[in-house]
Amino acid sequence: MLKFGFYLPTRVHFGPGAVQQVGKITRLYGKRAFVVTGRSSAKKLGFLQIIEKKLKEEKIEPFFFQEVEPNPSIDTIEKGVELFNKQRCDVIIGLGGGSPLDAAKVIGVLIKNPPPLSYYFGKNKLKNNPPPFIALPTTSGTGSEVTPYAVVTDTQEKHHPKKIIADARIFPEEALLDPTLTLSLSPTLTSDTGIDALSHAVESFLSKRSFPLSETFALEAVRIIGKYLPRAISHPRDIETRSYLMYASLLAGISIAQTGATLLHAMGYPLTSSFNISHGRANAILFPWFWEYSFPGNPEKFFKIITTLMEEAKEHQAKRAKESALLLKEFLQTCGSLQNMDIKVPEEDLYRFAGEIVENKQRLAVSPKELSFEEVLTIYKKALLI
Ligand code: NAP
Ligand code: FE
Repeated sequence: MLKFGFYLPTRVHFGPGAVQQVGKITRLYGKRAFVVTGRSSAKKLGFLQIIEKKLKEEKIEPFFFQEVEPNPSIDTIEKGVELFNKQRCDVIIGLGGGSPLDAAKVIGVLIKNPPPLSYYFGKNKLKNNPPPFIALPTTSGTGSEVTPYAVVTDTQEKHHPKKIIADARIFPEEALLDPTLTLSLSPTLTSDTGIDALSHAVESFLSKRSFPLSETFALEAVRIIGKYLPRAISHPRDIETRSYLMYASLLAGISIAQTGATLLHAMGYPLTSSFNISHGRANAILFPWFWEYSFPGNPEKFFKIITTLMEEAKEHQAKRAKESALLLKEFLQTCGSLQNMDIKVPEEDLYRFAGEIVENKQRLAVSPKELSFEEVLTIYKKALLI
C-alpha cells in the first residue's frame, strides 16, 4: 500500500552566484540581519564581505556572529541569543558548514522559546516559530539547509553530549546553494562532508520509513556522489563537479528530512563527541561494517545502492554482504575517507557506546536490520580496534 507524507517548506535557490541574491531575499524578511558563521573560513575566503555588501545594498544592517565552532556548544548558542536580542535583529542568516547552520537554527529556537534549551531536545517540542532563517551552506554534506534538524553539543553531559532538535518549525525559509562557496574545501573536508551526504542518502534509502519519493531523491544522491566525489578530490576547483556534489547533498538532505537517519549516524555521534573525529569521518569509519552486518535486513536495497554508487560493481559481489561491503570500502578509500586513521579508542568505551545504541529502540526499529548488542559492539571493534 502506497502511503506517505512529504513536507519541504524551504524555498531553494541553486546555482553558481546564488549568494548574490542574499540581499534581495533577506529584504523579504527583515532589516536587521544576524549573520551566523564559523570562526575563520567565511571571513578568510571573502564570503562575509559579499554578504555585507549585498545586505547593505538593500539597506539591511548586518550583525556578524563569527563564533561557531565545529559541533557547536550550547554556550556559543547562548552568546548568539544575547547578541541577537541586544541588536534587536529580525532575521537570521546562517553561512557555513553544518555547524554554523545548526547553531543559527538553535539560536532562533531560543529567541522565541523560553530556556532552558534542553526542553526542546527530541522531536516536535517547540511552542513558537523561530525568526525567519536563510541558510547558505559552504560544505556539501549535512543538508541542514533543507532539514528540520539541528545538532548541538551539551558540554555538561559527559556521556551523551550530542543533542538533536527535530522540529518542522526549524526548516529554513530560504536556502541559497552556491557551489562556488565550496571550491575552497580541502580534500579531507570534501571527502568527510561528501561521505556525510552519502550516509544520509544510504540511511534514508534503507530506513523502514522510506517511501518511493524519498527513495528517488536518495538514490539519485548516491549516483551523483559515486560519480563526482572521487572527481572532487582529484579536481577540487572544477565548478561542475562542485555543483553536482552540492546538488547531491541537497537531495540527500531532502530525503533524510522525510525519513530521519538510522543506526550509522547514531553510532557515529559518540565517536565525534568522545574522540573529536569529524562527523562525516565517524560515519565513514563505521560504514563498511554497518553495511556488512545490516545487509541481511534488506539485500535487494543494498544491491541497488552499491550498483548505483559504483558502476563497476559486479552482480555476484553486490549480492553478498561481505563482498559488497568491500566494494564500499574501496569507494571510501578512493575518496580518501579512511586515511590517517591513527585513533586510540579504549575498548571499554565501545561497550558503553554499544549499550547506549541498543537502548534507543526507536532508532533500531527503523534501521534495515535490528542489530543486537553483540553485533553493534563487533562493528565498533572491527572499525576501531582491528
Ligand atoms: P562544520 O563543522 O560546519 O565545518 C568543518 C570545518 O570546515 C570548519 O573548520 C570550517 O571552518 C570549515 N569550512 C566550512 N566551509 C568551508 C569552505 N567552504 N572552505 C574551507 N573550509 C570550510 O562541518 P560540516 O560537516 O558541514 O557540519 C558538521 C555539523 O553538522 C556537525 O555538528 C553535525 O552533527 C551536523 N549535522 C547536521 C545535520 C542536520 O540535518 N542539521 C546533518 C548532519 C550533520 P570555520 O569553522 O572557520 O567556518
Ligand atoms: Fe550527518
